[in-house]
Amino acid sequence: MKEKLLIAGPCSLEGPELAHTTITKAQEQQIPIVRMNLWKPRTKPGFEGIGEAGIPLLIDAAQAGLGVGLEIMTPEQAQLILDEVLGVVPHAHILLWIGSRNQNHILQRDIGRVAAGNDTVQVMVKNQPWRDQNHWEGAAEHVISGGLSSEQVVMCHRGFTPWDKSDSPMRNIPDLEMAERVRERTGLQMILDPSHIGGAVHLVKELALEFGQLDWVDGQIIEVHPDPKNALTDAQQQLTWDELKELQGTIS
Ligand code: PEP
Ligand code: MN
Repeated sequence: MKEKLLIAGPCSLEGPELAHTTITKAQEQQIPIVRMNLWKPRTKPGFEGIGEAGIPLLIDAAQAGLGVGLEIMTPEQAQLILDEVLGVVPHAHILLWIGSRNQNHILQRDIGRVAAGNDTVQVMVKNQPWRDQNHWEGAAEHVISGGLSSEQVVMCHRGFTPWDKSDSPMRNIPDLEMAERVRERTGLQMILDPSHIGGAVHLVKELALEFGQLDWVDGQIIEVHPDPKNALTDAQQQLTWDELKELQGTIS
């Protein structure tokens, strides 16, 4: 089976100590791209990330030779990240993602425009919360219409919001058949997100193992925190680095 990409790191960056643990662990465990979210949209107001104050930490990760992944909501944030990180590490691999809640088509195109022409920059399109293949594909088309090559666009399935939460133990319900169809129809890489699908550590582990067996899956994005129970966001679903290590041989 082909080797699968692994993107790992905390749900959100909380400060320099967490960033530096993430960099060290990613290097030790040979994770090519770290999650380093600076902006954190929340269902209800709360900790919303450390914002642009965290940009030097992204630069540290890029200087350590790691790819850097984070969610952006606006073309201005995308531009700021590219200016600051590529300004210091010109060929850094940067993975900007459009989160499930960010469904503004005009902004999606403008984010595509910002990233266009930078070969080492990719934009990942997470599916929207509601179950609609056409909408998800449309989001990718909007990003591509900004001028990105198909190598620069990656899709990510993070499941769909359950209509009735009592129907499933999972936080979001995956539609793997849809994800496979979208991959086939768009020809874009497909990453699965067992963390936001499972929503609880034991489910994240089971899903990651299951997803690792699927031929058509190009990789996974997994939330990892050195002290999950004290994480400021998504404490219930983040693995420890050791837990990730146990899965790694099987899933990547
Ligand atoms: C995330 O990946 O950090 C995230 C918030 O996920 P989603 O947009 O899929 O809810
Ligand atoms: Mn999260």
